[in-house]
Amino acid sequence: MPEPSDLDSLLNRMRSATAPIRSVLEALHEQFLPLRTGTVADYIPELAFAEPDWFGIAVASVDGQVVEVGDSQQPFSMQSVSKPFVYGLALENHGREHLLSKVNVEPTGEAFNSIVLDETTNRPFNPLVNSGAIATTDLITGTDYAERIKNLLGMLANYAGHPVFVDNATFISERTTGHRNRAIAHLMLNFGMIEDRVDETLELYFQQCSVLVNCHDLAVMAATLANGGVNPITGVRALSTAHVKDVLSIMYSCGMYDYSGEWGYLVGLPAKSGVCGAILAVVPGKFGIAVFSPPLDERGNSVRGVAVCRELSQRFGLHAFEAHFAGTTLTDEFKPARR
Ligand code: GLN
Repeated sequence: MPEPSDLDSLLNRMRSATAPIRSVLEALHEQFLPLRTGTVADYIPELAFAEPDWFGIAVASVDGQVVEVGDSQQPFSMQSVSKPFVYGLALENHGREHLLSKVNVEPTGEAFNSIVLDETTNRPFNPLVNSGAIATTDLITGTDYAERIKNLLGMLANYAGHPVFVDNATFISERTTGHRNRAIAHLMLNFGMIEDRVDETLELYFQQCSVLVNCHDLAVMAATLANGGVNPITGVRALSTAHVKDVLSIMYSCGMYDYSGEWGYLVGLPAKSGVCGAILAVVPGKFGIAVFSPPLDERGNSVRGVAVCRELSQRFGLHAFEAHFAGTTLTDEFKPARR
């Protein structure tokens, strides 16, 4: 055990090492807080209680350091940000080939809640729109509903590094108003794409959307994907390395709804957004980014979230196809570097 004075000096050294990145995040927070466009989602009534000026940014490195500013501890429901993680769980449980037979990997170019399936195979277009996500949730294993939810929450906890819980008010709100998701699920049942336990699967889907996290958690979850599937703080494996690239590929091509193409072009990072106003982005091998701010643009992406990620990507050369120097400037701020 280090003496308190040693501990203090260690903490001070850590603080000073992350000070430059903290000032970058603080400056971005200040720059984009006055950006007051977009609207808070209200089609799920519970979401409408969010404050439009909630704004948090967090970055977590593959060394397990987290730097966060603003409302980074404000809890919110994961919504669609849960989808890539559930896809990872399904891959782990059933393998790639089976997943591909159930859910395609094509961007839709349509809204996240569109009721469209592939005309020839009846598969949903991808696991990050509602149809594909419900089909993926259907693949969560377990002998009964209780075991399936335990597996779902256990998987998310491995990414977050602590137990996670469902917000009951959001869950009830989702379930009361989720008629469109019911329609999507029943259409898929009609085509034999999901099993005949639609109500249970929808309940599970509403549960996963209602899991409470904050910006800090999401940055760690993103860093876990950046770190080959191992949580960089707890050392617990959340996803096998072999499937990390599958999840990241889908996030790259489909993670930002019908803005995914432009996002890939401008920001160039695997990412996922949710109607809660969160965006999670991954810089593979380096760090995870999370931004939370509830007002959404017309595509359903957080206005401030997109602005922060665009700025970070441009300023620090984070675009995937600038990989020869991706993130070096920003990553250099995290010491000591493990790789
Ligand atoms: N629970 C939301 C829904 O199913 C999730 C959508 C989202 O975040 N895009 O409509």
